[in-house]
Amino acid sequence: MPKDFLKGAADQYDVVVIGSGLGGMTAANILARDGMKVLLLEQHYKLGGLATWFKRPRGHIFDISLHGFPHGMVKSCRRYWTKEIADSIVQLEGVRFDNPMFSLTTTFDRKDFTNLLTTDFGIEVETVNRFFDTARGMNFFDDQEKTTRQLFDEFFPGREDVVRLLMEPITYANGSTLEDPAITYGIVFSNFMSKGVFVFQGGTDKLVKAMEKEMKHNGVDVRINCDVEKINVAGDKVKSVQVNGRTIETGAVISNSNLRSTIFNLIGEDKFDSSFVDDAKAVRLNNSSTQVYMAMKDGDTVPRETGDLLFCSTADRFQTDLLLSRDITSRTFSFYYPDTRPDGKGRTLIVSSTNANYSDWTDLSKEEYEASKKDLVETTLNALEKYVPNCRERIVHAEAATPVTFEHYTKHVNGSSFGTKFEGLGVSRALPEQIGGLYHAGSCGIIMSGWLGTINYGVIVANDVINQLSSAPTVTTT
Ligand SMILES: Cc1cc2nc3c(=O)[nH]c(=O)nc-3n(C[C@H](O)[C@H](O)[C@H](O)COP(=O)(O)OP(=O)(O)OC[C@H]3O[C@@H](n4cnc5c(N)ncnc54)[C@H](O)[C@@H]3O)c2cc1C
Repeated sequence: MPKDFLKGAADQYDVVVIGSGLGGMTAANILARDGMKVLLLEQHYKLGGLATWFKRPRGHIFDISLHGFPHGMVKSCRRYWTKEIADSIVQLEGVRFDNPMFSLTTTFDRKDFTNLLTTDFGIEVETVNRFFDTARGMNFFDDQEKTTRQLFDEFFPGREDVVRLLMEPITYANGSTLEDPAITYGIVFSNFMSKGVFVFQGGTDKLVKAMEKEMKHNGVDVRINCDVEKINVAGDKVKSVQVNGRTIETGAVISNSNLRSTIFNLIGEDKFDSSFVDDAKAVRLNNSSTQVYMAMKDGDTVPRETGDLLFCSTADRFQTDLLLSRDITSRTFSFYYPDTRPDGKGRTLIVSSTNANYSDWTDLSKEEYEASKKDLVETTLNALEKYVPNCRERIVHAEAATPVTFEHYTKHVNGSSFGTKFEGLGVSRALPEQIGGLYHAGSCGIIMSGWLGTINYGVIVANDVINQLSSAPTVTTT
């Protein structure tokens, strides 16, 4: 008989959270801390969504998405998780760029960037200061018509090298392009520039286990291998979810599943106004990515000057479409030195990331897909040779993940790494106006994606639910 992953689960909860990405877990934790009866349902056998890890023979542990996030994570983790989690967040010291236009190493903060822009790039300090102040002053309610390209043209006309320095890491960090609204750039860039780039020391396995412990401590009923099939609606309100052959009643559902799957698969378009359906259909997904996970031989490592994050490219010019091309010219290497996991086996791991189009990886035969993955590993090793000499002899494990891999493990439509483009945020926020008690918390709108963005969005949505449930009229029976 198959195992019952819902054994002992109640028939009714105040809130059901679908998905255990950072957004879903954060929302669940806050709600439980507020005294609500919360059920968290995850379809995979592991928690974390894209923020997870995997193990390979000989004890290699690879982090899927631990490349870097802004300092704001410290505050968010302290407030909404625990001091222990916040205290494990550490800064990456060496962010390196190497491309035909420039090679440099930076701490990736405002002070160092101001220095680089004025000395190496010869920009007037007043212009640099005005640019930083403008970017930092941007917020959600600003003009959404101005694009990032227009913002750069205003401050650095004709300076493709400056645009590359300022934009390449952000394109990598959330898939945004020069055509996206400037506010999405300004908010994310300023978050990083406040203090630099940070990661979680101990690895994603330590983080997610600490989050699981905290959720359970606060009373969240956490269930894995629970693939939610449907959110049932009665009248204009959420009523229950269908999962693993059971129907669980609830007054509120937070879906951490992809926004489009939430609307079109878990609910169904017939339950929404036609104009909302049109808006939802017009939401563009963000791109996906390919990764190559590599482990060095025991005891072997690379000099620290190699950097922690290395944005390397052989493309003469910076073009966002080139960053997505299957013919890869730009890669970001993350170097995980032994101190990434101080209690680990002292290994050095390297992960290569490249933004990618889903369409380049789907519709391939099994043989073509495998050959394409092999080619990705080989071409990555070719590119790595410049930074890690003789890397082929020094790397004992290498494997690739593609947009199809991400789709498979997280059910993200088209394997999207960062949810949706900007317009997705408005659609996500409008869900409870369409169906009472229906919320979405997860990567969307660029500014609400990435580790920090999704955690913060989980907080916002949890507060919406608290407001909804605390203002709901008390039902009395006679
Ligand atoms: C390769 C890669 C590298 C990245 N690197 C970084 C980085 O360095 N820094 C950074 O800040 N961000 C990074 N990101 C982005 C970041 O990981 C994501 O934005 C963030 O983790 C998404 O969190 P989320 O809450 O939206 O949920 P997700 O992580 O998308 O999780 C959604 C969860 O819902 C579950 N689910 C879906 N449907 C159902 C269902 N029907 N029933 C039950 N469960 C369901 C899924 O299994 C999944 O666990 C990276 C992303 C990728 C792909």
